[in-house]
Amino acid sequence: MAAETPLFSQAQTLENDEAVREVRGIMALRARGSAPTALVRTYGCQQNVSDSEKIKGFLAQMGFSFTENEEDADFILFNTCAVREHAEDRVFGNVGALKNVKRRHPSTLIAVCGCMMEEEKAAERIRSVFPFVGLVFGTHVIHRFPQLLLRALTEEKRVFERGDDSEDREIAEGLPVRRDGAVKAWLTVMYGCNNFCSYCIVPYVRGRERSREPQAILEEFRGLVRDGYKDITLLGQNVNSYGKTLKTPVSFARLLRMLDEIDGDYRIRFMTSHPKDLTKELIDTIAGGRHISHHLHLPFQSGNNRVLKEMNRGYTREQYLDLIQYAKEKITDLSLTSDVIVGFPGESYEEFLDTVDLIRRVEFTSLFTFIYSPRTGTRAAGLPDPIPAEEKSKWLRELCAEQEKIAAVRCASSVGTVQRVLVEEKNPKTGLLTGRTDGNIIVDFAGDPAFIGSFAEVRITSARNWILGGELA
Ligand code: SF4
Repeated sequence: MAAETPLFSQAQTLENDEAVREVRGIMALRARGSAPTALVRTYGCQQNVSDSEKIKGFLAQMGFSFTENEEDADFILFNTCAVREHAEDRVFGNVGALKNVKRRHPSTLIAVCGCMMEEEKAAERIRSVFPFVGLVFGTHVIHRFPQLLLRALTEEKRVFERGDDSEDREIAEGLPVRRDGAVKAWLTVMYGCNNFCSYCIVPYVRGRERSREPQAILEEFRGLVRDGYKDITLLGQNVNSYGKTLKTPVSFARLLRMLDEIDGDYRIRFMTSHPKDLTKELIDTIAGGRHISHHLHLPFQSGNNRVLKEMNRGYTREQYLDLIQYAKEKITDLSLTSDVIVGFPGESYEEFLDTVDLIRRVEFTSLFTFIYSPRTGTRAAGLPDPIPAEEKSKWLRELCAEQEKIAAVRCASSVGTVQRVLVEEKNPKTGLLTGRTDGNIIVDFAGDPAFIGSFAEVRITSARNWILGGELA
């Protein structure tokens, strides 16, 4: 039987409430301006964006307002990403640059959190090289942020905190959230990953899979719909295995159906899907849904079976193509996107050509393409990698050129159709409104800014690669 995931305890909530009150009092005296100000900078994926929104929720409770200017901030927090090693180097460079800010404003508290801080080596480097960083914490202890901030403000020493195994399993519900937008919202349905793809650090820094109870998700979702959010993305490292660790298991398809029953004017998206766990039941659910976007982001990573095995992905190209065929039959206007890695250690040019062949067969709307970069601590980082970087760049250009042709044909095929577009903003350069179709394709059209934040019916009149032009229908 699946283990029960313990919820955040009442005692922890009370401790947080107490810490929020104390920090509020301390910061009222310590702030350089009339009220304390925080800068929260987020690196990496939407999960990190969602975590930062929770931290900002706590900060808002403590009386902080927000700034993008380091010079104005009483508290600076970098929420870091560990997925790519050169992105980590950039973070270290940016943290180093804060030394002068700290010199000019000694009372400013500098903190670093996120996936990188779950890596012992990275946290140790912050400890030894950047003595002006006063607070460091990992992804598993975000729910205790008020208590950690209070310690950093009151103790005479720097605070370093990472979760332990028991905390790794704890899911904190009811945390405050300060969302960055008023139209699009992120909603985390599960944490962690059990897959251990051989190139990926995520299971090591985010821990094992834990799913939120459906009731907690439904409650948060209903609140978002009530608050007028129109585009709600369910988040998880592998949403297709949602619910397996719950005491009473619930499939992701079942969760989607429960959410879809909620009345309102909104659309549901989800990411990231794993082909190994994507079921026909889920595809049927998307096809029959009232609010579920006809867009599927389904990373295939490689079109070659030997490379897929080396990546430990758990499916073959044939299984992937079968799923795609089923999905296309059931959802005729389906928009497909994917992630691809080019130049995995040991990949030959012939094997790479299987990837090119796969994108031709699937006809993706767009692709997120990456040249393989080794991640210390993963199995793939130890594999022989004889292909030179220039050669891999050539392969990548070849893949992108092919995808551009595919995207152009796909986008051109929507000319003449009427699409439901969620209008996001007015482009200051062109004066046109910009929004996204159900398939997540950008559309520009002339219209009243009053449409921003709502759906508009737009007739597509032109296509430029992956951007559409249109007019109000
Ligand atoms: S499914 Fe694979 S690539 Fe995705 S987070 Fe898990 S280990 Fe990483």
